[in-house]
Amino acid sequence: MNYYDYIVVGSGIAGLYVSLLAIEHGSVLILTKSSIEDCNTRYAQGGVAVAIGNDDSPELHFKDTMAAGDGLSDAETVHILTDEAADCIADLIRFKVPFDTLNGEIALTKEAAHSVSRVIHAGGDATGEHIEVTLSEHVRSTPIEVMEYCLVSEILVDKGEVKGVRALDCRTGSVEEYTCRFLILATGGVGRLFKYTTNSDVVTGDGVALAFEAGAEISDMEFFQFHPTVLRLPGVAPFLISEAVRGEGGILRNVEGRRFMSDYTPEAELAPRDVVARSIVYEMRKTGNDRVFLDVTHLSPRLLTTRFPHIYRFCLEHGLDITKGFIPVDPAAHYLMGGVKVSAWGEANISGLFAAGETACTGVHGANRLASNSLLEAVVFSKRIIQKTTSSYYSEGEEQQRNLKQDPSLTHGVGSSISCSLPCREVLPNVPPFNLPNLQSLMWNKVGIIRSAENLNEAANILATWQRSLPHPTDRSSHELNNLVLCARLMTEAALLRKESRGAHFRTDFPQSSSQWQRHAVFKKNHASN
Ligand SMILES: Cc1cc2nc3c(=O)[nH]c(=O)nc-3n(C[C@H](O)[C@H](O)[C@H](O)COP(=O)(O)OP(=O)(O)OC[C@H]3O[C@@H](n4cnc5c(N)ncnc54)[C@H](O)[C@@H]3O)c2cc1C
Repeated sequence: MNYYDYIVVGSGIAGLYVSLLAIEHGSVLILTKSSIEDCNTRYAQGGVAVAIGNDDSPELHFKDTMAAGDGLSDAETVHILTDEAADCIADLIRFKVPFDTLNGEIALTKEAAHSVSRVIHAGGDATGEHIEVTLSEHVRSTPIEVMEYCLVSEILVDKGEVKGVRALDCRTGSVEEYTCRFLILATGGVGRLFKYTTNSDVVTGDGVALAFEAGAEISDMEFFQFHPTVLRLPGVAPFLISEAVRGEGGILRNVEGRRFMSDYTPEAELAPRDVVARSIVYEMRKTGNDRVFLDVTHLSPRLLTTRFPHIYRFCLEHGLDITKGFIPVDPAAHYLMGGVKVSAWGEANISGLFAAGETACTGVHGANRLASNSLLEAVVFSKRIIQKTTSSYYSEGEEQQRNLKQDPSLTHGVGSSISCSLPCREVLPNVPPFNLPNLQSLMWNKVGIIRSAENLNEAANILATWQRSLPHPTDRSSHELNNLVLCARLMTEAALLRKESRGAHFRTDFPQSSSQWQRHAVFKKNHASN
């Protein structure tokens, strides 16, 4: 059978969770381009934010999320995120995700920019692995069909309605069409765009590129988060040292051993990620070095080995005992705040097309994501997709209730979106040869943590020239390269457009935020020029 009620693309937390809910209502096919467990979810360490502590409330979680979003988070969807969090976590517990407990209660930890301890975790710092393994085992015990090593290469749309997808079997090279009533993109972010990244190889922006090509709106692509503390050892792939390590008291020191974060911000190590990442870059420039150190030697070895067993073991296996020596770190590409623009019900501007998880832009993260809100966003808005597509839950009454909950003091001033298409750019005669390492270096050097018009313009011209020369994709890697270049163009053009600094987007030529830019840049394909 090639027709399904739901086709889900991707098998991270968003794809698996939405499929487990969808199978209660109809047939489900998951298409995933690698093995089922190959995704970013598996690498998540810190945990999932949820306001269940005695000193906490959804309202406080709402305020922290809005503050991190730096004036661009959508108050309506943030209310949904924080109000509906506990209900979705209860689902994960029902699916038997083994969250850690302390004295019989779910254990909570604190992370940067959260005003209280509210991050739940599993296996200490192996939260994502436990979620991924538990949910994928569940999926295998249901009638959900899973096709691994199957890359979705095109969304089929007819008269403004989704009809299905075209997919490449990466093992045989055959191409098949699958039709459906509802298509849910759960393809993750775009971290492989950059030379240094915490992301899995599969995270190549496919969902954003597929949706853009199909006519969907893509929002906030300039907002990409760089994680400040990623292990840098020679010959070792970048490995995340969770925010929670600083939450538990980890200190950042420069190469001379001096604690430096309070030179940049009073919040020191617990400042938002973008502030810490930029401060590290400045400190590295100041000291003429390519790294700083995270010092946890003053913390109890028992705390380190029980709370961060995964980080402890990984470092030890690479010759570093973190209870005794400093951890060499610097920032790396981590998380896409923007993506396929969806409503509070996860729906894009094409009938039947939904997006969930990192590939979606629900508006909750605004210009900067609060740590541990992404796994939460994936489940909360996945659940709403099922509520919407099964209609019994969805009613105008509820939507109106939501609107009443908007806090005018927090939403006022968010202007209307700017609608854009990718500009036509001149083809340059001399550009570096196109390949993945050159693309990743270009993005790291010109569209990375610290941006300027000069660098962005240079990158935009090179990217447009490369895009013109791309051959028709035939296999997984050529599809991924095409998708990465398209996402790189969307990110670079959006970053050029935004003439201010806000959240994770920082420009040396416009170092302040501007009230004129308290709005979103939304890109849509212009069939005439792209
Ligand atoms: C190292 C690390 C640590 C993190 N720690 C945390 C944390 O503690 N808390 C938190 O909230 N967030 C954390 N994050 C972020 C969080 O893990 C991700 O945002 C989240 O897991 C994304 O889930 P997802 O389901 O959207 O995508 P992913 O888990 O990335 O899954 C994407 C899926 O889509 C598939 N796919 C992609 N393109 C195609 C295609 N064309 N056809 C078919 N299949 C396709 C992939 O194969 C994969 O199965 C972390 C991220 C990283 C990298």
